[in-house]
Amino acid sequence: MDKKEILERVKADGIKFVSYQFTDVTGTVKSVDAPVSRLEGALNDGVWFDGSSVEGFARIQESDMHLRLDADTYAVLPWSPAENKRARIFCDIYHPDGRPFEGDPRGVLRRMVEKATARGWVFNVGPEPEFFLFRRNGGSSIHPVPHDVGGYFDFSAQDEAVRVRTELMSALISMGLDVEVGHHEVALGQHEIDFRFADALRTADNVLTLKYTVKAIAAQNDLIASFMPKPVFGINGSGMHCHQSLFDIKTGKNLFFDAHDEFNLTQLAYGYIAGQLAHARGFTGIIAPSVNSYKRLVPGYEAPVYIGWAQVNRSALIRIPRHNPGMDKATRIELRCPDPSCNPYLAFAAILAAGMDGIDRGLEVPKPLTNVNVYDLDEADRRRLKIKSLPGSLLEALEEVDKDAVIKGALGEVVYSAFHRAKMEEWEAYRTNVSDWEVERYLETV
Ligand code: GLU
Ligand code: MG
Ligand code: MG
Repeated sequence: MDKKEILERVKADGIKFVSYQFTDVTGTVKSVDAPVSRLEGALNDGVWFDGSSVEGFARIQESDMHLRLDADTYAVLPWSPAENKRARIFCDIYHPDGRPFEGDPRGVLRRMVEKATARGWVFNVGPEPEFFLFRRNGGSSIHPVPHDVGGYFDFSAQDEAVRVRTELMSALISMGLDVEVGHHEVALGQHEIDFRFADALRTADNVLTLKYTVKAIAAQNDLIASFMPKPVFGINGSGMHCHQSLFDIKTGKNLFFDAHDEFNLTQLAYGYIAGQLAHARGFTGIIAPSVNSYKRLVPGYEAPVYIGWAQVNRSALIRIPRHNPGMDKATRIELRCPDPSCNPYLAFAAILAAGMDGIDRGLEVPKPLTNVNVYDLDEADRRRLKIKSLPGSLLEALEEVDKDAVIKGALGEVVYSAFHRAKMEEWEAYRTNVSDWEVERYLETV
């Protein structure tokens, strides 16, 4: 969208305020808001802001940062009141001297994507964000939406959750997401809304849009939308599986598709899968980056635990989804360990780096885990089959990121050290906390 177009759009949409948005390293969306009268100036000259209070941006001597607007990301925030209609625009962050700011997660993904572009590839990602809708039950306690009795794909016309989900989907469509499907997930109160794959940068923007829109519209319905990976013990958690493929930039052909291969995959796709398996322990800390992420990555809840790939096997880390013959664009690999607590820019940069490293080094894929439910294997079986596990805690995952030069390289020094610092703080806060579980377990017995 050029300047003239966007200025016409804001007028037609009755916009009063514009939020210039970006994320910190942990994925929290930051917003600098201005009246619409300032938009023309912002499009011409960017927007200055003091970055010193933003996670990963703090630098005592040099805290002024410059936002450049990516006008194509303009979208009206459908929950903003008519009299103060607000739109948002995502931004890239620059130093005062005009260099891209190394601490900008969107810039990290841009730089990684450029490496794929240089080889003539488009990196496509289609995520499957899952979330819960909870109702606050008076006071401070939260419970799953009581009307919500559905299981996977259940439908009941009276179901309040269906009404809310329809509202969510319609809001997302109005914001430009190509919504494909919304459905109830396995757990009580759990949902999923999928939108069409696109290049990684656009998809990462879309993930942020989806998360804050779902939260805002849920709040208008007196509900709490949560993307916490494992909010309730004993039932499925929420993942954000990432379907990935590489397309040829010139011809638009899917470079993962080979009609003659058993799994319809090319050598390039196999190299990519091998890279992701090789770096799985290294990138898990980036794509499942919360203490709570590791309560989800346990056996028995359709979340992956062991490192392997297969066609139809929900217990494998990478799955090759089936699709209709002839639909070569749909050939893709599904990575199942990401969860929606990640910063999508960093997550996509890390998984692309892993896949490209596998291609570059010509890594071979191990045998697929066909017909094996890896949850059922015991330690000896796994050793025999050489199946490794994902990290079991945030601490272990962070230690693995630290050992993985490819993943650290994808993030760059500035983002990596800010990320590591923020996440070690989170780990320490958790480690030193005394939980209800400990009190129940030990108070009277010890
Ligand atoms: N909720 C599951 C997870 O944590 C995934 C269920 C599904 O296969 O969609 O990854
Ligand atoms: Mg799902
Ligand atoms: Mg899936």
